Amino acid sequence: MPGRSFIGGDWHAREDFTSLNPANLSEVVGTFPAATPAEVSAAVEAARAAFPGWRRTSRILRAEAFDRLAQLIKRDTDALATLMARECGKNVTECRAEVVEGLHMVQYVFGTGRTGVYGEVVASEIAEKDAFTRRKPWGVVAVVTPWNFPFAVPLWMLGPSLLEGNTCVFKPSEETPAIALKLVELFAEAGFPAGTVNLIHGRGDVGEALVKNPAVNVVCFTGSYAVGERIQQASATIPNRIVAAEMGGKNAVIVCDDARFDLAVNAGILSAFKTTGQRCVSASRIIVHESLVERYAKAFVDTAKRLQFGDPLDAKNFAGPLVNRKGVEKVLNYNALAKSEGVEVLLAPNGPPDAKGCFLTPFVYRTEAKPSLRVTHEEVFGPHVALIPFKTDEQAAAIYNDTEYGLSMAVITESYRRMRFFRDECEYGMGYVNLPSIGAEVHLPFGGVKKSGNGHPSAAALVEAVTHKTAWTVNHG
Ligand code: NAD
Repeated sequence: MPGRSFIGGDWHAREDFTSLNPANLSEVVGTFPAATPAEVSAAVEAARAAFPGWRRTSRILRAEAFDRLAQLIKRDTDALATLMARECGKNVTECRAEVVEGLHMVQYVFGTGRTGVYGEVVASEIAEKDAFTRRKPWGVVAVVTPWNFPFAVPLWMLGPSLLEGNTCVFKPSEETPAIALKLVELFAEAGFPAGTVNLIHGRGDVGEALVKNPAVNVVCFTGSYAVGERIQQASATIPNRIVAAEMGGKNAVIVCDDARFDLAVNAGILSAFKTTGQRCVSASRIIVHESLVERYAKAFVDTAKRLQFGDPLDAKNFAGPLVNRKGVEKVLNYNALAKSEGVEVLLAPNGPPDAKGCFLTPFVYRTEAKPSLRVTHEEVFGPHVALIPFKTDEQAAAIYNDTEYGLSMAVITESYRRMRFFRDECEYGMGYVNLPSIGAEVHLPFGGVKKSGNGHPSAAALVEAVTHKTAWTVNHG
């Protein structure tokens, strides 16, 4: 695929870097231009120039552009899912689900925009005055996204930003430029005016140049904590800059002694290994009541051994490869660290890593909870999971909370009282009961606390970041 960027309504092709299929690194998915500093500035200027016209466009007409986009996504669902599977290695069934999640966000934006409600009539202290609130867009929003949800995550941020009248510069992950290009082609086909959605490609240096541009009002970032922290630091010197950052996790499933056993094993397996453990909400800790831990470990390892990690285009496979060689190295380093930290290894990848692609099978270990263990505290982002026993619910909550992250958790219990206890005592953004720790619905907030997020969860709450609320009082006396 010849890669292109999109600046002010003009397409620019150049061949600076390649996107590879992680299931077969000899297959080039596309070759893309890496934005120069001048192109980064041009994209921001194009967004700035398009802003007045777009913010003056009726909010209902802006919403209707999302209705057209929804029709195009429906038309192209299969092609988008196949391209995504080839480019990021996720199984095609999951890719299709992700395209549908992106579609749901587009429909949500259309639906909320089409209602026409975006302010409130409020009482005034003075009888002769009417008072209203009204949300106004900030201006230019930089949307910087990760590779692991390359279609839905950009839409979670582009959707609310554009509906409210902002214009955007989108910098997708360097691992998934092809699917980002397809998405922006659909925005163009849906009739979003030139300059409202701009696309620039490249690695971290391009993202850094974008977020350092003082004409960017808001940065909507999803990715790792390390990058999110750099973006927040770079933004601290820019007056009135707003950063909405969704970052990593060290999520867990808590299996209580009253859990339905098969459900608990299944929830643990899906939380740890779906998407090969590469979801922000993947669980890399399973905190199991001590009375169950022996039986649970055996069933979990037996199931993990049978999982098929293979061609992402074959829907029968459970999951695909890791995204790149760097991802494989990172997980192998954490596997080695776990051994050196003295854990009990229950399952390890057999043989050296795959030579052709980036496949890696699960690593499962058992350990007591210890504050000193790095492996049970840091995000690994791969098929690497700890089983940690607990005695009391208070201890399970303390183990869950003993990380710098707070993104997602699942509790497997038949007790409403216990569910309430974990709901109230644990630090997280998304909680799941008798479900895996993964999954999102576009009308629910998605975001975390501590190092996982800075308080602007996506969907409805993102509107708080990309707009400011104004008061408007009218004298009718
Ligand atoms: P990453 O942080 O390495 O990269 C994310 C984006 O930031 C990419 O587009 C990258 O090019 C860009 N970038 C890198 N350095 C930059 C800099 N200095 N300034 C500006 N931009 C820069 O993340 P990744 O490997 O693509 O994705 C995996 C991470 O994303 C994991 O930590 C995962 O937990 C997290 N994630 C979080 C959520 C969430 O909603 N909380 C969702 C998906 C992924």
